[in-house]
Formats: sequence, structure tokens, C-alpha cells
Amino acid sequence: DIPVICIDGPTASGKGTLASRVAQTLGYHYLDSGALYRVTAYAALKAGLSLEANDEARISDLARTLPVRFEGDTVWLGNEDVSDAIRTEQAGMNASKVSVLPAVRTALVALQHSFQRLPGLLADGRDMGTVIFPDAPLKVFLTASAAQRAERRHKQLISKGISTTLDSLRADLEARDARDSSRSVAPLKAAQDAFQLDNSSLSIEASVDQVLTWWQAKQPF
Ligand code: C5P
Repeated sequence: DIPVICIDGPTASGKGTLASRVAQTLGYHYLDSGALYRVTAYAALKAGLSLEANDEARISDLARTLPVRFEGDTVWLGNEDVSDAIRTEQAGMNASKVSVLPAVRTALVALQHSFQRLPGLLADGRDMGTVIFPDAPLKVFLTASAAQRAERRHKQLISKGISTTLDSLRADLEARDARDSSRSVAPLKAAQDAFQLDNSSLSIEASVDQVLTWWQAKQPF
């Protein structure tokens, strides 16, 4: 059995940072499942499709054969570097739109499973513990207050020279969470056996240590 640690949670809760730090510490692989939805939405728009149900079959065809590749921090779609294009707030919202389409979710299952390789995997997303890796020995549901999440995202964007307001960021992330939580297939929610971690007032190091402590306690599984 190849071990999987799932880290699910709402937008901008710090899943990516936490999951990649833990992956680095353990020498595990890392799956950024959100990036797959972002790249799918990007590819769909590029192909001239709408992100709505009327194009569900065509978007899922794209998703099933998505030529996506991760190379360090670079994300490739075929030979196009889409790293920056998929990281905008709009790209996140677009990802959230295609992610409500059941056929699109199904089309991405095999690709997500293919990341499960030795010595282990850190899987980051919304439904890693509930749908994609339901037998994972450790599942974490990471939360932080909306105010905290908006503030962190704001800092990130400012440091990249992108100007936004705290209020509009908070409204955007709450809208995205509402859509992600209310969809009929694989809604954002904690798996029954997930450990809850609220990192509103925790440092990254403290969150990493907490996950490693839970992981230690699961050994051997
Ligand atoms: O995590 P990230 O913000 O990159 O995800 C972008 C969007 O992709 C989410 O808002 C969500 O709608 C969708 N998503 C999903 N299931 C996942 C990961 C992301 O539906 N496992």
C-alpha cells in the first residue's frame, strides 16, 4: 500500500503550503488537485468553450486527456507554461465553475490516482479524503477564518505587485466556498475520519509539526 495524506479545506486556507512542506519533509510526492481544475478551465476557455453545463461533455473530453505536467513550481499545458495564468483569482473562479460538472470530476479521477507513487503522496484539494483517496490513513481538514484567509491572499497578491482590496478578495473567496460547498457532487466537506486543524493563529511550522505528529501516531498502518 502506498501511503496517502489528504489535506482538504476551503480556499486560501494554506493547504498548498502545508501539503508541500509536509511532502518535502517526508520525501513524498505532491498532488495539487486544484491546479488540475484550474488547467481544465483554462484549456476549455482556450478551446472556445463556455464553462457551463452545455459544454460539459466537451470539457470532460479535454480533462480526460489533459496534457498537464508539473515541473517544480512550473505547470505546463502541452508546451505552454500556464503557471501564472492559472493562479489568478479569475482562474480560481473559473476552476470552481468547471468543478461543479460531474463528468469533469469523473474525467480527472484517473489522473489524480496516478499521482499515488512510492514512497507516498500528499494530496491537496476539496475531496481528497471523501472521494479520491477514501482509504487514506491520514486526512486533515484545514480551516482558517475568512478574515485570515482574505488577509493572507491579499499579502500574497501585493507581494506579486497585484493590487486588490481585502473586501473584494473576501467576497470572492466566500463566493467560491459557497459554490464548492453546495454542489451536488463531491462538495467541500470534511471526511468523517478527518482531523480538523484551524490554523488561524498557528505558524506554518506549527501546522507542519501537527500533521507530522498525527502521521507518526498512524505508524505502522
Ligand atoms: O485549490 P484551488 O483554489 O487551486 O482550487 C480551485 C478550485 O478547484 C476550487 O475552488 C474548487 O472549486 C475546485 N477544486 C475541486 N476539487 C478539488 C480541488 C479543487 O473542486 N479536489
